Amino acid sequence: MRIAFIGLGHMGGPMARNLVQAGHHLRVFDLSAEAAQGLVGLDAQRVQAATSPAEAARDAEFVVTMLPAAKHVEAVLCGQGGDGSGVLATVPRGVPIVDCSTIDPATVQRLAQLAAAQGNPLADAPVSGGTGGAAAGTLTFMVGATPDLFAQVQPVLQGMGQHIVHCGTTGTGQVAKICNNLLLAISMIGVAEAMSLGAALGIDPQVLAGIVNTSSGRCWSADTYNPYPGVMPNAPASRGYSGGFGVDLMRKDLGLANDAARQVHQPLPLGAQALQLYELWSRQGHGQLDFSSIIQLLQGQRPA
Ligand code: NAD
Repeated sequence: MRIAFIGLGHMGGPMARNLVQAGHHLRVFDLSAEAAQGLVGLDAQRVQAATSPAEAARDAEFVVTMLPAAKHVEAVLCGQGGDGSGVLATVPRGVPIVDCSTIDPATVQRLAQLAAAQGNPLADAPVSGGTGGAAAGTLTFMVGATPDLFAQVQPVLQGMGQHIVHCGTTGTGQVAKICNNLLLAISMIGVAEAMSLGAALGIDPQVLAGIVNTSSGRCWSADTYNPYPGVMPNAPASRGYSGGFGVDLMRKDLGLANDAARQVHQPLPLGAQALQLYELWSRQGHGQLDFSSIIQLLQGQRPA
C-alpha cells in the first residue's frame, strides 16, 4: 500500500520504519529533513521524502499522522491559512486518514468533519506502549471510528502494534488515552511519594519496591517504571531520566484531561493537582526529562 506518513519523531520514526518492514511504500514528511532522510536511508526503493504534507498525500492510499499536539495536526491537515500545503488539499477522495497523536477529542471531531466534507474518513488512533513499543511494533492503538472504517484501518495498524482496540465513535480513542494518562500521572506521583518517604525513613528502596510490587500498592508506575534510581535497571530513572515519555508531553495530556473534564462538569481533584506539579517541574527547566523524574521535585534534588 502507498502510505503518506507525517511526523517522524520519537514515536513516528520507529512506527514508519515498521510499516516499511511490513512491505508498504511510504512517502514521508517531517519539519526535520534529517528525520525524513533517516527513513529514506532505510530503503530508498520504498521510501521517498516529500516537501510538504500535501505532496506526501498526493497519490496516497492511506495517511498516518503522528505529531506533538492539536495545532500541529490541524496545520498538517489543513495547511497554513489555506496555502494548499495540507493533506486535505491533495489527498484522493475516500482515502482514510488516521491520526495517532494524542490530542483533544473535540479537535478530532472537528477535523473529522472537515475531512468528511472532502470525502475522506478520519479515525483517531492514539497509542500506548512508549518508544520501546513503537520500536518493537507492540503498541496498543485506541481507535475511534465507525465499524467500517475500523475494519479498513486495522490491517495497517497491525503493522505497528499488537493490540488494536475499537473504542467507539470518532474521538473515543482520545477519551481512552487521556483517561489512561490521567491515571498514569497520578499513580506515578503516588509511587514517587511512597518511595521518597520510605528512603527518608531508612528502608532500602529496592526492598520497598519489592514489597509494594507483591502487595496492594502495586501498579505499572511501581513495578515496571519505578521512579527511584537503581530500582529498575531498564527504567528511565536508572539512566538520568533520559528518553521515555517527556514531562512536557505528560503536562499536555493532563491539560487535555482537565479541559475535557471541565466541559462535562466532572471534578478531577487529583488530576488538577497532578497538572500543577508537572507545570512546576517543567517551569523549573525539566520539560524534556522522562515524567518519572517528578520524584526529584518531591526530594528537592536535581537529576545528576
Ligand atoms: P516528538 O516531538 O518526538 O515528534 C514529533 C515530530 O513531529 C517531530 O519530528 C517534529 O519535527 C514533527 N512535526 C511537528 N510539527 C510538524 C509539522 N507541522 N509538519 C511535519 N512534522 C511536524 O513527539 P513523539 O514523542 O513522537 O510524540 C508524538 C505524539 O505521540 C504526541 O502526541 C505524544 O503525546 C504521543 N505519545 C508519545 C509517547 C512517547 O512515549 N513519546 C507515547 C504515547 C503517545
